[in-house]
Amino acid sequence: MRLEDIKTVGVVGAGTMGNGIAHVFALAGYNVKLADVSEGYLERAIKTIEKNLGRQAKKGIISEEDIPQVLSRITTTTNLEDFADVDFAVEAVFEDENVKKDIFNRLGEITRPDVVLTSNTSSISITRLASYSGRPELFAGMHFFNPVPVMKLVEVVRGYSTSDETANLVIELAKKLGKTPVEVKDYPGFVSNRVLMPMINEAIWALYEGVATKEDIDTVMKLGMNHPMGPLTLADFIGLDVVLNILLVLYNDFKDPKYRPCPLLVKMVEAGKLGRKTGEGFYRYE
Ligand code: NAD
Repeated sequence: MRLEDIKTVGVVGAGTMGNGIAHVFALAGYNVKLADVSEGYLERAIKTIEKNLGRQAKKGIISEEDIPQVLSRITTTTNLEDFADVDFAVEAVFEDENVKKDIFNRLGEITRPDVVLTSNTSSISITRLASYSGRPELFAGMHFFNPVPVMKLVEVVRGYSTSDETANLVIELAKKLGKTPVEVKDYPGFVSNRVLMPMINEAIWALYEGVATKEDIDTVMKLGMNHPMGPLTLADFIGLDVVLNILLVLYNDFKDPKYRPCPLLVKMVEAGKLGRKTGEGFYRYE
């Protein structure tokens, strides 16, 4: 498949990441088929995309008049069979390998054999996901960042069998979306989470050992390292369950104790204090 032949993109999963991915493809002129398990999720995703396009118009990034046309390029479905005519696909369902395995088994059957399949997974091996698709040469990671319409980075992850043509196609496609692609190999956490998660974990260890207060730990990293957000605030934003899961992937896959999750993080997840989404993590939210 050549870049110029890609007209319609299938996005599976219409949650936080999936609706953002559909948004950026539609804005770049692609037709998008957005799939999820129920109409309710899809309706919510379209409302979110509409709201976020409105925000971009207010900031002068896009023109208000273009919004209906961008939205008209997105169609929704609860049936993956509708992906028979897509030219490229991105999977962004729950971070659950069994769910993704089923999706890639099916996409391998449903889509044309020359279609490149990608996953937005944060932590699951691209090489393993590729094996479920039946076309590992035509498979790569396309790792976007939240919020997708705002964040410039896309990690393009090469699995063991990813061909040069496939990697290049994903890189060029990311550029068409106005993103900056960075090519990385398929190792646990890629580059982003391999560097970020140990830093967040270390901030939690510092809090756990009473080195400083949570506010002071965040202030050190904001004012001393010029980070826009302190690590504990960022952990609340990402979700402490997500942070813990990714650390466990690093810990288990590398078999290296340097990734051992701090017991305080484990306790907070057990207590349901997951950050912003539950109203309390390291900080409280109204
Ligand atoms: P989410 O929970 O917001 O959305 C997941 C969506 O997938 C839901 O709408 C769910 O209904 C749908 N889904 C589940 N099973 C499905 C199926 N069989 N068919 C179709 N749809 C199905 O999750 P998210 O935060 O958008 O994360 C999605 C993926 O993106 C994960 O792999 C995650 O690791 C990755 N990711 C997340 C972030 C982030 O900051 N949230 C950043 C980068 C990558």
